[in-house]
Amino acid sequence: MKKISLLGATGSIGLQTLDVIKKHPEAFSLFAMAFGQNINKALPIIKEFHPEVVVVGNDTIKQQLQSQFPRLEVISGNKGLEEISTAPEVDVVVNAVMGSIGLQATLKAIEHHKQVALANKETLVTAGHLVMEKAKEHGVELLPVDSEHSAIFQCLNGENKKQLSKLILTASGGSFRDKTREDLIGVTREDALKHPNWNMGAKITIDSATMMNKGLEVIEAHWLFDVPYDQIDVMMHKESVIHSMVEFADNSVIAQLGTPDMRVPIQYALNYPDRLELSGAKRLDLMEIGKLHFAELDQERFPCLKMAYEAGKEGGTMTTVLNAANEAAVQLFLQDRIAFLQIEELIQKTLDAHQSIKWPDLQTILEVDRQTRSQVLSYID
Ligand code: NDP
Ligand code: MG
Repeated sequence: MKKISLLGATGSIGLQTLDVIKKHPEAFSLFAMAFGQNINKALPIIKEFHPEVVVVGNDTIKQQLQSQFPRLEVISGNKGLEEISTAPEVDVVVNAVMGSIGLQATLKAIEHHKQVALANKETLVTAGHLVMEKAKEHGVELLPVDSEHSAIFQCLNGENKKQLSKLILTASGGSFRDKTREDLIGVTREDALKHPNWNMGAKITIDSATMMNKGLEVIEAHWLFDVPYDQIDVMMHKESVIHSMVEFADNSVIAQLGTPDMRVPIQYALNYPDRLELSGAKRLDLMEIGKLHFAELDQERFPCLKMAYEAGKEGGTMTTVLNAANEAAVQLFLQDRIAFLQIEELIQKTLDAHQSIKWPDLQTILEVDRQTRSQVLSYID
């Protein structure tokens, strides 16, 4: 029986992780969970799964929760995230919070030799070198939850990584894949939030529409698999059936396929290296699908992808700035304070103004992250 700490329990990945836990009561139990503000979603989870510790975003939510569950241990803030990522009872930490707020919890979980199932890609974009260095030092293998990275991880099973020639990440194209740049002027928040294939949290759905999500994933893949940027390709594949591929030295290509269902990579990370049944999930039926489509991803049409490659190649704090500027700009868009195309403009402007610091330590990263967010705000004030 694996005891799980679930960071981001009320989110899209969090709820799907709970579904996996529920399907396998003999294999998993929820020891602790964290959420930010959404108490209405959290209450039924607490009643059903009986976690021993709950971490919440702030003291007001803590008081509300504590009044309903006087005997439950409730902690608020970042120190709570670290506490449930390091508790001796915990076997697996699922990091599914949104944003670079997940960084310190990931680092702490690694230091305490936990199995880390990582959905929180911002952690690797903002401080990939620190996370990977720590994982190596403590002999911890990070288990990717992001579907593309889970696919690559599965394709690399039993292979000699030295014989890998490239990674090919697939991209659904997001809600605006068939629009031209002219069409993007005046698109609304509601339009952007309609993803054709996946039902995800608001921030990552916007990231998919700008294609920054794929950019963040290129950087995530660089760190997770230690592959240089010029050996990481992206390709538009609108059906989201091939989750990603690896090409080897002999031109052989291995791909991982499945219906778009995040519970598959979540469960694989929770139970690695063994596979479990996933009852009730739709099986892949290629005959029903008939055709799969592939197309080039044009970096002029999707400048966020280009920015991500450039920031990744520059390295140092450039990707910290990329991530923080993106988080800040997407938040402004979700608050209806900027137009869709201003997201990429604000990120580019912030990147242009930044002088990268090589091999930054944690304090530098946290400081650059904070400064970047206020810089983005200063541009629109
Ligand atoms: P959601 O926005 O749906 O969920 C985010 C979760 O984080 C919520 O439970 C939220 O709580 C919680 N949270 C936010 N701030 C805090 C905080 N300060 N303390 C504790 N918890 C907090 O996001 P997703 O589930 O879509 O995505 C989560 C991560 O997984 C992201 O990094 C995303 O890029 C990645 N990912 C997601 C995929 C998906 O299919 N959704 C696919 C691949 C990767 P609350 O809402 O209660 O405030
Ligand atoms: Mg993904």
